[in-house]
Amino acid sequence: MDVTTRHIKYQADCDPSFPAAIKKVPGCEKLDSCIQCGTCSGVCPLSIYMDMTPRRVMNLVRYGFKKEVMASNTIWLCSSCYACTVECPREIKVTDIMYALKQMAIRERAYPRRFAMVVLANEFYKMVRARGRVNEIHLVTRLNLLTNPLKMLGMARLGIELIRRGRFSLRPESVHDPQRIREIMEYPEDGNGKEARTQ
Ligand code: SF4
Ligand code: SF4
Repeated sequence: MDVTTRHIKYQADCDPSFPAAIKKVPGCEKLDSCIQCGTCSGVCPLSIYMDMTPRRVMNLVRYGFKKEVMASNTIWLCSSCYACTVECPREIKVTDIMYALKQMAIRERAYPRRFAMVVLANEFYKMVRARGRVNEIHLVTRLNLLTNPLKMLGMARLGIELIRRGRFSLRPESVHDPQRIREIMEYPEDGNGKEARTQ
């Protein structure tokens, strides 16, 4: 006999500051007008791999279920294809909300530990910030060390072969002036540059 388990959520489980913080992000203001039509989930090419559909994520965010949203793999599987944003009948910028959720999760370190997508995003960001370029072999090495060190053993032979054939370089590359890259990355979304911030 199949058993159905129901998880009851109470108002006390909600965090009202969560939707308020997301709606403050430019492009995320219209979240409350969601009619739960499910179009975003229907057009999302990755929803079959997500543990929560985009429609469900939108609903949980607006009612303040932060813990559930942050523990979900949905925000990390979103590939930013914008199909949901284009098709949403209420013009809700679902992709921007996914971005805002990712940024919040990274800031608060509220994501599944050793989850490769998050580690990859963090390490990619750090490399670009430090040198303006990504070295693939360093990125893959860091990713595996932080998520699944044993996997390194299985990949060692392939890595050595790729280095031998000149497909991977061990020498980290850098742009001419990495500081400029850092300034661009730190440029605030409100358009006020460095001068404005130092006033
Ligand atoms: S398509 Fe828009 S209105 Fe429909 S469920 Fe998704 S976010 Fe809500
Ligand atoms: S932007 Fe993300 S959530 Fe929206 S359809 Fe594409 S993958 Fe799915």
